[in-house]
Amino acid sequence: YTPHTLEGQPVSNDLQPNKLAHKNVVSSVLHQQIKKDPPKIVSGKGNYLIDSNGDEKFDASGGAAVVSIGHGNTRVKDAVIKQMDQVSYCYLPFFTTEPAEKLAKELVDSTSGNMSKVFIVSSGTEANEAAIKLSRQYFAELPEPQMSRTRFIGRKQSYHGNTLGSLSIGYHQARRAIYEPILSQNTSQVSPCYPYRDQKEGESSEAYVKKLAQELEDEFQKWGPNTVCAFIAETMSGTSLGFVPPAPGYLKAMQEVCHRHGALFILDEVMVGMGRTGTMHAWEQEGVVPDLQTVAKGLGAGYIPIGALLVGQKVADTLFQGSGAFVHSQTYQGHPVACAAAYEVQQIIKEEGLLANATRMGDYLGKLLQERLGGHKNIGDIRGRGLAWGIEFVEDKASKKPFPSEKKISGLIHLAGLQAKEGISFIPGSGNADGKNGDVVLISPAYNMTR
Ligand code: PLP
Repeated sequence: YTPHTLEGQPVSNDLQPNKLAHKNVVSSVLHQQIKKDPPKIVSGKGNYLIDSNGDEKFDASGGAAVVSIGHGNTRVKDAVIKQMDQVSYCYLPFFTTEPAEKLAKELVDSTSGNMSKVFIVSSGTEANEAAIKLSRQYFAELPEPQMSRTRFIGRKQSYHGNTLGSLSIGYHQARRAIYEPILSQNTSQVSPCYPYRDQKEGESSEAYVKKLAQELEDEFQKWGPNTVCAFIAETMSGTSLGFVPPAPGYLKAMQEVCHRHGALFILDEVMVGMGRTGTMHAWEQEGVVPDLQTVAKGLGAGYIPIGALLVGQKVADTLFQGSGAFVHSQTYQGHPVACAAAYEVQQIIKEEGLLANATRMGDYLGKLLQERLGGHKNIGDIRGRGLAWGIEFVEDKASKKPFPSEKKISGLIHLAGLQAKEGISFIPGSGNADGKNGDVVLISPAYNMTR
């Protein structure tokens, strides 16, 4: 892969990290790119990050759609210190703590009681790993166990994390390809819901959704319906597709297929949950309730690593009537300090009315993006909901032809470090994950954003 400019010229040497001598790199951290030192961030205030040169960068993506209340919130800091003064750590498989209980109850209540238990971990990936394992355990613990259920169906162009289990159910080609031989073979993927490219001209939304539901049905039939543990989808596609909201009725139709065959319906809300779309959970806008749900990024808002698996009544009851244990202990599960921080973040979101602001500012941002950028010849689609917006680039607007890999706009932005250089930090999404879609840029600022 040799990087080229849009005009097809090779990118100059100083932009090509692989031309830099190793000794010029001072960082000992194994970054994603290790041939060039990234800018060093020394502080954060409100919605700005400040680097070691004193330059301010507006945090337009909230890191990786993580920051929901801005940086440097003293209420969260005080909650963390208070908890550390009391106790920083205890092993949750043996004990419980007030912050873990308060956060779990907060999450259960936020689902109007549809979810009944919460398993607290440290990241989105870990939450999805827990979801995979609990799904299997659910079928093993039914009064009449269904041990034939070993398969997971995910979606193409999806991302659920970077560990072997979560990579297996996802299909982010750039992150998955070389590991393919060591991933689980008991997974397969159906098409995502991606109207911009996959809904045919003149095809109604209902017909498109029906087609996707039929594809899932066919996948169940292909492997045998009683071999499937679960279907997993991001409620709104995040990093692979660039914030594509589901077509009306899509998730309901997929859930219907799962339940008809006795399989679980899992929603991954790691990126778009915890308020980012204007409701606490993105599924609230879709008329579905998942059997299992994962959350992470917005849960701790970046103050501390935390993620969670929310467990619905059906699965929790089965576990209760069965072994009474989830065989998945982790050293840092339900970490008291992380729970205290996340609980405080959730109080701030409620008290400052940030869900309503996310909706209001999201509508404004969407309109602005359409007005200012919608007409650009290389912008194929602008889509989103709440404060989660994706801009998809194309080489040719009429045919929706994506840029070839060496001309990907997001790749060039990344290569030139523009996402952090120009006083504004945003994520060039990894888009084009299977070479089919265009590449994307993600805009996902904090919920306290102003006009
Ligand atoms: N699931 C989704 C939808 C994500 O977007 C991500 C991260 O981008 C993950 C899971 C993995 O979460 P983490 O990076 O916290 O492990």
